[in-house]
Amino acid sequence: MRTKLIAGNWKMNLSKAESVTLASEVLHKVPKSAKAQVLLIPAFIHIDAVAQVISKSQLLLGAQDVYFEKSGAFTGEVSTEMLLELGVSHVLVGHSERRHVIHETDAVLNRKLIAATSEKLVGIYCVGETLQERNSGKAAEVILHQLKTGLANLSHDVIAMGHLVIAYEPVWAIGTGQTATPDHAQETHAFIRARLAELLSPELADRIRIQYGGSVKKANAAELLAKPDIDGLLVGGASLIVDEFVGIIQAAEKS
Ligand code: PEP
Repeated sequence: MRTKLIAGNWKMNLSKAESVTLASEVLHKVPKSAKAQVLLIPAFIHIDAVAQVISKSQLLLGAQDVYFEKSGAFTGEVSTEMLLELGVSHVLVGHSERRHVIHETDAVLNRKLIAATSEKLVGIYCVGETLQERNSGKAAEVILHQLKTGLANLSHDVIAMGHLVIAYEPVWAIGTGQTATPDHAQETHAFIRARLAELLSPELADRIRIQYGGSVKKANAAELLAKPDIDGLLVGGASLIVDEFVGIIQAAEKS
């Protein structure tokens, strides 16, 4: 059984006060007995404030990025140790905006994923094809390349401990209102799990959670979560709206 993971990626949105308000509203609306895991991913600068709100609760705290070096002259960067000190348990690696807007390379993402997972964080490694790649029939090739490069030299032991989550986020579905159909998402998730079985082992592939992300809202969450290889959702825009995000969590509770 893979526990569902519902994550809200707040991106570069919300003031400190708004972040605190949103975290406390989610906290009060999510039942303590929830069987799904709920993860809030605020901007770096508001992590500490959100941590104060959700500490001692069942809600989990994430970061949108991390640097691979432990410390030193890396202006503007944040280390795994700094995140752990604030109570962060999960970190996104390779979100499409980091790949396509910030232009992070495969090699950098691989180093970040190794650093995060080996330092006791759960790395949520994002993969997904652009519209152009999809239209030219290259989606599978692109996703396989991202898996191979991202997971290279990752310790199987840390993966077995649950420190790796994959998020399939087709770039054409992120922030566009265009969601992959549940069947399309399931097909790609099954493809990813099969490749994980080859790259790692069938046992590890069976344990790794694969989230779907791309214009998820409460109206489409249930049918996505009903698919056997969709183990959670990575939510952007809708995670900023309490009613939407709580509706998505409720869909996970019923799945
Ligand atoms: C995301 O940021 O990972 C995302 C999927 O965004 P949205 O839900 O807004 O498409």
